[in-house]
Amino acid sequence: MPWHSSALSQHANDPSTAAALNWANFAAELPRGLSLQWLGTAGFRLAYEGCVVYIDPYVTRVGWDDVLHRRTARPVTARIESYIDAADAVLVGHTHFDHALDVPAISLATGCRAYGSTSLQRLMSLYGIVERAVVIEPHRVYEIGPFEVTFVPSLHSKLLLGLKVPSDGEITCDSVDDLTPGAYCCGDVMGIHVSVAGVTMYHQGSANLVDSEIRHRGVDFFLAGIAGRMFTPRYVERVLRLLEPRVVVPQHHDNFFRPLDAPMGFSFNVNFGGFVEDVEAVSRDFAIRALDLLQTVEG
Ligand SMILES: [Zn+2]
Repeated sequence: MPWHSSALSQHANDPSTAAALNWANFAAELPRGLSLQWLGTAGFRLAYEGCVVYIDPYVTRVGWDDVLHRRTARPVTARIESYIDAADAVLVGHTHFDHALDVPAISLATGCRAYGSTSLQRLMSLYGIVERAVVIEPHRVYEIGPFEVTFVPSLHSKLLLGLKVPSDGEITCDSVDDLTPGAYCCGDVMGIHVSVAGVTMYHQGSANLVDSEIRHRGVDFFLAGIAGRMFTPRYVERVLRLLEPRVVVPQHHDNFFRPLDAPMGFSFNVNFGGFVEDVEAVSRDFAIRALDLLQTVEG
């Protein structure tokens, strides 16, 4: 199957494809007591034995107009209070605004630490909480309550017609007032492996990878960022053959310029149906489970 096959899909962003694959139609397949919630974009909430860990939580969702006019993008307190409860840790795969914008505010509200790159550390320092930033060492295992977390060096997909990574490099601002959406530069990019309750998850926030860095095999749940994958040759095949996941959970296909309380739209050109076809072309043994915005599955 050629890597660009999804571009030829008949199904594109037909919402019925996602509805048919919704996790609610299947068994939860999670260990008892473990819950997983999708927050839209690459954001997830994981909870087990009273410990709550977020990955790339982004609930403020600045409007397209703010991006276009390069307005300072700030966390919206009311939205954070609506969607984020207690947090024991936040894990951040890269520091684009749709992954990292809310992280300092969540840390300020909950007192939790934030794990990620030196670019994340810079962002936390702008809010006066640099001591709560943990700059990760690749492949080291971090214990957070019952969670064991490992960060895996990765890459961001190229956007902008496949030519470059948008807002590449590190956050360099000296003030939160300078944090326009474009100033949230990418920083180092990491896949995030989580082991908890006897199962493993692998979170890929952007559709690219460094094949040789992925050491985990046979993961249970692959939280698969699917935006921008058309610019990463054979992305779906390469990442699936390495991780060998039991269950594939697509993410980052929602239109994140709409607020979380609006009906979900699909990101431009994300081609959800084409992703499903590409997974099935590698093997029909992978289960695919889709989530709605804010949907929670619990074991
Ligand atoms: Zn990004």
